[in-house]
Amino acid sequence: MIFLDAAATTPVRREVIEAMFPFLTNQFGNPSSHHELGEAAAAALAAAREQCATALGAHPEELTFTSGGTEADNLALKGIALARRAADPSLNRVLISAVEHPAIVESADHLRRIHGFEVCVVPVDAQGLVDPDVFAGMLAASGAGSGSAAGEQDGAAAGGGVAVASVMYANNEVGTVQDLSALSAVAAAAGVPLHSDAVQAAGWLPLDVARLGVTALSMSGHKIGAPKGVGLLYVRGGTLYEPLIHGGGQERGTRSGTENVAFAVALGTALAMAESARPSAAGRVTALREGFMRRVLAEIPTAQLTGHPTRRLPNVASFCFPGTSGESVLLELERRGIVCSSGSACAAGADEPSAVLSAMGVERTVAQTALRFSFASDITASELDAAATELAAAVERMLRLG
Ligand code: PLP
Repeated sequence: MIFLDAAATTPVRREVIEAMFPFLTNQFGNPSSHHELGEAAAAALAAAREQCATALGAHPEELTFTSGGTEADNLALKGIALARRAADPSLNRVLISAVEHPAIVESADHLRRIHGFEVCVVPVDAQGLVDPDVFAGMLAASGAGSGSAAGEQDGAAAGGGVAVASVMYANNEVGTVQDLSALSAVAAAAGVPLHSDAVQAAGWLPLDVARLGVTALSMSGHKIGAPKGVGLLYVRGGTLYEPLIHGGGQERGTRSGTENVAFAVALGTALAMAESARPSAAGRVTALREGFMRRVLAEIPTAQLTGHPTRRLPNVASFCFPGTSGESVLLELERRGIVCSSGSACAAGADEPSAVLSAMGVERTVAQTALRFSFASDITASELDAAATELAAAVERMLRLG
């Protein structure tokens, strides 16, 4: 089987299992306990936090371990919006890009439905990019006339200042990479904290938060060889944010609950490994991905690349194959030993075209033919050659069968 679905998840690396194993077995202490076992656990947690802080160029106290990317996104968006509005009631708006993951879209919708925020959606161009000038205009606007989130009722706009904005670093469906530094500069000039979902960027793009200029950044372990169920939120020191989980005050009060030491150790190990491999892995996989894209577009004349042709994740190639159905090509490819993902995998219903592709202006029937191919860092040229050959045959068969 050739696994071309690494953006969905990756296996846990052996070194990561070895690093976390002691904290599931003989070193099982609770980091809050005042005895040797507890202190060993607290030291391991601190070391893991330090590893992550080094990868992000952050201070360890700026990091909160979470249960994954979804929780990190929720904590960033809701936590910052609620805390800032509590301090200044005029901060009643939240801006999110039109291509966010459901973890951000649904968090924003929660803020709208339950807390009365106005949610404004920053449009993207046909390649999935947010224009910094459009973003600047929306940060400055009073609220009237801006886009509205799915489900927002007309006329519900309240206006007011922006409590928080969120634009993802790299898109999970089409791989488009935003110019985060430019967007951060715009947000900073407007005095608005910018959060970025970097779940897909980790291991492929630089995560240095100072250079990116973001106020907050989320990531997830299972995209980089750590287990599912662990993630991280960076929030710049001095930024107001409310915890979502209350209790014993762990994680400096940002997330109560006994810390998952083993998973934090796993994330620290995986992130350190991913960062040290990143420069060579990104270069090698970018070249392979470009070759794969060229072959697919040459051999399947009807294929349409989705996302940006060059500003994209090293490991994500995505296409629409008009005249087919994404699901049927996916199944045909699996029969041929190739595993990938259909563009609509994350949408609510099987027939719902991807909101990301819709936001990029891809027509509904075309969006339903989307497939994403995403590669792990050990992908080989021969695997991608075989995949391109099988893909061309699968699409040809589906077009023939109608
Ligand atoms: N954000 C993006 C861009 C993602 O691709 C994902 C997962 O696929 C998430 C957030 C959610 O992360 P997790 O699965 O760790 O909750």
